[in-house]
Amino acid sequence: MSFTGKVVIVTGASSGIGADAARHLAKLGAKVSIVGRNEKRVNEVADQIKKFGAPTPLPIVADVTRDAQRIINETVKHFGRLDVLVNNAGIFRADNVVQFDVEQFDSILDTNLRSVIILTNLAVPHLEKTKGNIINISSVAGLRPFDLYTSYCISKAGLDQFTKCSAIALAPKGIRVNSINPATIRTPIFEQIGINKSNEEQFFEERRHDYLVGRVGEVSDTSSAVAYLASETFLTGLLLPIDGGLMCSGIRTSLPGLT
Ligand code: NAD
Repeated sequence: MSFTGKVVIVTGASSGIGADAARHLAKLGAKVSIVGRNEKRVNEVADQIKKFGAPTPLPIVADVTRDAQRIINETVKHFGRLDVLVNNAGIFRADNVVQFDVEQFDSILDTNLRSVIILTNLAVPHLEKTKGNIINISSVAGLRPFDLYTSYCISKAGLDQFTKCSAIALAPKGIRVNSINPATIRTPIFEQIGINKSNEEQFFEERRHDYLVGRVGEVSDTSSAVAYLASETFLTGLLLPIDGGLMCSGIRTSLPGLT
């Protein structure tokens, strides 16, 4: 699989899933715009990419909720084209219908959904020229309810509908739109719900038992899926769970004489 000559934007590329996807696509030859809010961390990822000899990336210090136009403009001005948009930036907070904060709800929807719609809208004319594609990083929380992450689930379920509606709308322009829907992937995102260095091993050990494969996901699991969907596939409108079997949620049964 080669992305030589292809230009990719990865939002939220200063950490976790986005940082690894940016490194992986760059290793496969892509020229990558590394988008994130934290200048130091954006530059660190860009430096890592430069060190392994991949095409020089473009660091863009930007907030997806405010700077969508600048993210697209700087990329196209610098690299001259756009082939793949990876909408990855996202935030994770706990709430439910009883413990609900409207400002937090607005912030989750603003980052995880509204910004994706605006960025995608602005990217379409450039992706149409290259017959490019879009990958939205959703979550299994878009596909299944988790009561303590109500607003997050709503944001990702909305994102999944956006993926599917956009796949239909953009097919005549030759643009494919797909989603990956990860389950627990070992990244710093869980700091946002109180998981830190002191309790993360216990947290991931407990989560391990949620999955048929007996482990949580790693960023390499999501990066290979991003690269696959970004390549010349026959797929559009797909929501691809990267979930260790979580969506295969049957009920374990036993009968006399049968286990
Ligand atoms: P992370 O916290 O390590 O990385 C998220 C990145 O998004 C960070 O770089 C953060 O700064 C950036 N970001 C957040 N708001 C932004 C904004 N307004 N503008 C620009 N950048 C912004 O988390 P991660 O686990 O790598 O998550 C990446 C995506 O994957 C998110 O959309 C998340 O919802 C999704 N996801 C993660 C998991 C998981 O278990 N880690 C599971 C399912 C889905």
